[in-house]
Amino acid sequence: MPLRAGNVFMVVAPSGAGKSSLVNALLTADPSIHLSVSCTTRAPRPGEVDGREYHFVSEPDFLAKQLANGLLEWAEVHGNYYGTPADWILQQTAAGQDVLLEIDWQGARQVRKSFPEAIGIFILPPSIETLEARLHKRGQDDHAVIARRLLAAGGEIAHSPEFEYVIINQEFSAALADLTTIVAAARLRFRSQAARHAELFSQLGIPHSAAN
Ligand code: 5GP
Repeated sequence: MPLRAGNVFMVVAPSGAGKSSLVNALLTADPSIHLSVSCTTRAPRPGEVDGREYHFVSEPDFLAKQLANGLLEWAEVHGNYYGTPADWILQQTAAGQDVLLEIDWQGARQVRKSFPEAIGIFILPPSIETLEARLHKRGQDDHAVIARRLLAAGGEIAHSPEFEYVIINQEFSAALADLTTIVAAARLRFRSQAARHAELFSQLGIPHSAAN
């Protein structure tokens, strides 16, 4: 990885754990973190805008992009395809920008192959009852979809041990503070500091190889 590489944050959670609200609050508070916009074959929910929440694409278009190696990772989640466009992430990180990916555990595994230092953050609900209540409250999906997502939640949660960090989203502001702390700690890792303060590090005679 080049020394100027930005941090790659992967935020993973079962649906209804409150992931999007936390991520949106983090990005509003810290606009220097850039959100990756995934491609998906699922239909837009009310209020979702093409190019903002997702690039909404047809299945043939998705598969064509995947075949052309245009996706850094991809997975089938709840019966739809989701994938992270590769070009954008590579450009951003090479320019030293921090990026954040909202993906599932399968995608996180694939991202680590390209970015071994990616920071994995798993968000848990405080209880299974809370998770269920949040899925119903959202009211954007029908009952069959909710039932499928609840089942899938167990599968997703089973992969939480693969992540460096875990946030239990019981109280929103406390969970947001946890997320902010993780971002701050990641930015203080040797490699990040060496990239941000290259001149100082070289003035102090710290060898570049120490960052590798
Ligand atoms: P939703 O349809 O509720 O927006 O997302 C459903 C699931 O797909 C979530 O767990 C979300 O993190 C995951 N997801 C969204 N975008 C991507 C992506 O680009 N790659 C992968 N692997 N999963 C994604």
